[in-house]
Amino acid sequence: MTRILVLGGTTEAMKLAATLSDWGVDAVFSYAGRTNNPTMPALPVRMGGFGGVPGLVQYLRDEGITHVVDATHPFAAQMSNNAVVACEEAGVELCALERGPWRNKPGDSWSHVEDMAGAVEALPESPRRIFLAIGRQYLSDFAGKPQHFYLLRLVDAPEGDLPLPNAVAVQARGPFTEAGDKALLQEHKIDLIVAKNSGGVGARAKLDAARELGIPVILIDRPHIPTRPIMRTVTDVMDWLDHALSDEVGA
Ligand code: NAP
Repeated sequence: MTRILVLGGTTEAMKLAATLSDWGVDAVFSYAGRTNNPTMPALPVRMGGFGGVPGLVQYLRDEGITHVVDATHPFAAQMSNNAVVACEEAGVELCALERGPWRNKPGDSWSHVEDMAGAVEALPESPRRIFLAIGRQYLSDFAGKPQHFYLLRLVDAPEGDLPLPNAVAVQARGPFTEAGDKALLQEHKIDLIVAKNSGGVGARAKLDAARELGIPVILIDRPHIPTRPIMRTVTDVMDWLDHALSDEVGA
């Protein structure tokens, strides 16, 4: 029998969960458990890491998983790498549900860097007012450039002191709007943005606002993940699952 594991953490994963639930598909949804009060999907949920590749292989076997849909964030490279290796080892089918990267539009002023270290290096020496739109995980990488003011946007309020001496954290959960992000950039007199090339609609608002205001952006490229079939929409995932589900759904 088909049993699906959805690796979540994105809007796309939530949409897929809703569709799988509507279709009455046997599926379980996995969260890393990083944020307080995560939005609950329309599927049974498990929380927390699997324990690397061996833990995931064990989980796939114990739970009788036949298909994994990796709908994690494009920057969640460790989980995605683990999924490729574990599915191969366990003989489980895998696809990714992944939004395309952002492409620049006329008027955008983007410079591309390979990774977080590249973004730190690309910062100017003279003090600037920077919107550091990278989440909370890699903030300490920027501690070596303390001369800048950093605006942070975090899902949860930071626990303890921020690793940056001159920073303000606003607490907010996407999706965001261009008007809202324009107001945020103006309020904090931001003159440079550092962001990951996450793709998607809600997180793009800051880039559209930046174009409007003539603010340059340092955009971090996506990490490398081994080849796997990539689906851009929930419909594509359902088509990918079709051969397995056709005998079961509605039966
Ligand atoms: P990561 O570095 O790729 O993963 C680190 C470890 O966290 C994994 O090895 C795994 O632990 C555990 N993990 C990650 N996603 C999981 C999931 N969906 N279910 C169970 N365990 C999971 O991941 P990350 O970048 O920290 O992201 C963590 C979560 O936040 C992901 O679900 C991702 O979709 C979401 N997210 C990430 C970003 C981002 O920019 N990185 C942005 C928005 C949302 P074990 O090795 O123990 O299995």
